[in-house]
Amino acid sequence: MKFFFPDSQDLVDPSFDFDKETRGVSRLRQRDDCYPHEMFKLPPYDGMLVSRAIIDERYTFPQKQRLFRKGVREFLRLGDGGHNGINILGDCGAFSYKDQEIPPFTVDDVIGFYEQCGFDLGISVDHIILDYNAAFDSSMKAPKRIVDRQTLTLEYAAEFLAKSKKSKCRFQPLGVAQGWSPKSYAHSVKKLQNMGYSYVAVGGLVPMKTVDVLTTLEAINEVRNKKTGLHLLGITRFSSITEFENYGAISFDSTSPLLQAFKSDNDNYHTHDTTYIALRVPQIEGNAKLKASILAGKTNQDLARKLERECLRLLKEFDRNRVSLDTVLNHLLAYEEIHDGRINRRDAYFRVLEDRPWKYCTCDICIKLGIHVMLFRGAERNRRRGFHNLYVFNNRLRRHHDSPYRKQATNISSTKSKMIL
Ligand SMILES: [Zn+2]
Repeated sequence: MKFFFPDSQDLVDPSFDFDKETRGVSRLRQRDDCYPHEMFKLPPYDGMLVSRAIIDERYTFPQKQRLFRKGVREFLRLGDGGHNGINILGDCGAFSYKDQEIPPFTVDDVIGFYEQCGFDLGISVDHIILDYNAAFDSSMKAPKRIVDRQTLTLEYAAEFLAKSKKSKCRFQPLGVAQGWSPKSYAHSVKKLQNMGYSYVAVGGLVPMKTVDVLTTLEAINEVRNKKTGLHLLGITRFSSITEFENYGAISFDSTSPLLQAFKSDNDNYHTHDTTYIALRVPQIEGNAKLKASILAGKTNQDLARKLERECLRLLKEFDRNRVSLDTVLNHLLAYEEIHDGRINRRDAYFRVLEDRPWKYCTCDICIKLGIHVMLFRGAERNRRRGFHNLYVFNNRLRRHHDSPYRKQATNISSTKSKMIL
């Protein structure tokens, strides 16, 4: 099962000084900031996914020019340093234009984009369907609006394959299966196989319940040719990975390990068997709510600043075993009372401080940063914690591949398919 990491231009500045919170004077963001694969000895993923929509949304004009001129491999700095085994997959980013009548790209646009930028794999133009309902297979009729989206996606896939073959494109094409029920997804996969696709991306799974994803994959599996591999778009769900594989999934992509570092309420720092909350020590300047409260006279700015500084100092001292857990915890909670005040995170913070998970992680980030990796504070720390999560996720995946449980599960599946035959 190959893991593709979607690029969202969440880079880190290697010149950032965590004690002084300053950057190198000569730092140029575009030139010097690092992708996750530049922060570890080995890249924490098998491939990267670049969405056409993300380029339009997040890339600056000079970045776009460089991407088209140098190609995607050089742009992502995957061209050397032993990164040649990393595959680069392109897609349109259908979620970003979900509300539009038709996709904003033509098949010719997208083929030209993949080819000019030198992608290894390219996903056909699709239009996402977010109306999953298993009842559409029995008691209800699917609305025309969503049926039309599937028809359009299949038409695009046929055109995409024919044109990329005719132009002798170097990327491997993937067709997209969109659907609204198990049977409709199976219908898409069957059609795509008939067109000649042997690698199919399954879309629209993100908001679905795991049980519905599994039912859908089971239905797809009934029509799937043995040589057809599936890519699951935007889906993680680690606990179901063995089942996904047994239904023919060979790859997936997910930003979840990165995003959880700074978007989740509790699961910010991942280890092989559990997750931890990150310790909130926000910068007064960067915290809109806190700033507003100071301006309104509700919060004493001097006290807030004093607590912020003291928390940072005590956490560093705690990492060196020079202050007690209770002292750090009390200061964190006193500061939290000011910058948040809604939730008491005492138990969750106590658990992190007592277990000190960053001390046991052997990744390049944790070794270098120490306790800074646990601080929920500014993009430099938060993204690095996300990179650490990618490292852990990738290692869990590798370990899972070698596990006896997986071999056993695969055997069960092959026995089952023999019985069906
Ligand atoms: Zn780590």
